[in-house]
Amino acid sequence: MNHDKRLQNLRSRLDDALLVTDLANIRYLTGFTGSSAFLLVTTDGGTFFTDGRYGEVAGAVVEALTGIDLQVHTGPVTDDIAQHVGEATVGLEAHHVTWDFARRLGEAVTGEVKPTSGLVSDLRRLKDADEVEALRRAAAAGDAAFAQIQQLASSVATEAELGRALISVMEENGGNRAGWEPIVAVGANASLPHHRAGESAIGDGLLLLDYGCVVDGYHSDMSRTVWLGGEPSEEASRMYTAVLESQEAGIAAVRPGATGREVDEACRAVLRSHGMEEYFIHSTGHGVGLDIHEMPRLSRVSDDVLAPGDVVTVEPGVYVPGSGGVRIEDMVLVTETGGEVLTTSPKGLVP
Ligand code: ZN
Repeated sequence: MNHDKRLQNLRSRLDDALLVTDLANIRYLTGFTGSSAFLLVTTDGGTFFTDGRYGEVAGAVVEALTGIDLQVHTGPVTDDIAQHVGEATVGLEAHHVTWDFARRLGEAVTGEVKPTSGLVSDLRRLKDADEVEALRRAAAAGDAAFAQIQQLASSVATEAELGRALISVMEENGGNRAGWEPIVAVGANASLPHHRAGESAIGDGLLLLDYGCVVDGYHSDMSRTVWLGGEPSEEASRMYTAVLESQEAGIAAVRPGATGREVDEACRAVLRSHGMEEYFIHSTGHGVGLDIHEMPRLSRVSDDVLAPGDVVTVEPGVYVPGSGGVRIEDMVLVTETGGEVLTTSPKGLVP
């Protein structure tokens, strides 16, 4: 990962100094993975602030960067930041800082403090080769877990146990850790898009899974819905057919120049034609990278324009309260000509 180049790309977008506080943004720009950091980026240099716990680690990180100094703070970090900012205007990441932090920094500096948005997240959208490689490996670990779904399902008793089993297989297959507690929903539980895996028994019938892992900081995200044991119900089959067609239409709509709104509408239109639009109660997808949810957004209100290097999920679903639900989700890399699906698990209600 070329952090100097990323910092230069950021500087070329700056009129004033920027105080980066979002730790995922700091990781992207510097490689630092600790939990205490503030990065002041100026048009020709910058300062990395951390506390004593990370002084040594941060020293090595800063050593590898050009033009960034290290400041280990012992008192209020806002005082140290104010000293480095001097009279200059400093931008804050509006999506991330608290009102309290902005107020305290505003009191500490002599110059102006102003909100900014998207300065780093716009850069993070377009993944380089190393990032795509990490995302591929994370997706592959998720696929490895799904490949064993029938054995796993027959070897556990509850949703929660199946969730833990999925995590184990991902970790055996290159995942560093789970991205979150897997969503495992049986039967009617599947009507809740973010059902919390609990003590419900794994048995014959509908099973919705949504899970992912992290490799070198980069997340995977996938969903599959299957019917275990015997013939699927007519309702489950009807829902599955509609969602699969919808998801395929969404993937086909992923290409450079398409807006988030257009991909969302491609999915939504298919569900509308099946009379199921009202049961699609979330948006179609999101960017994925160092954060599980990042730019761009694929939704009814998204004007984000897809570009080569974006990695997004396409995950339409239908949810019928009291009855069940179906979601199918893949990660898709936007290429020069269209989209490359990174999730390779087979689709089909009967696994
Ligand atoms: Zn997702």
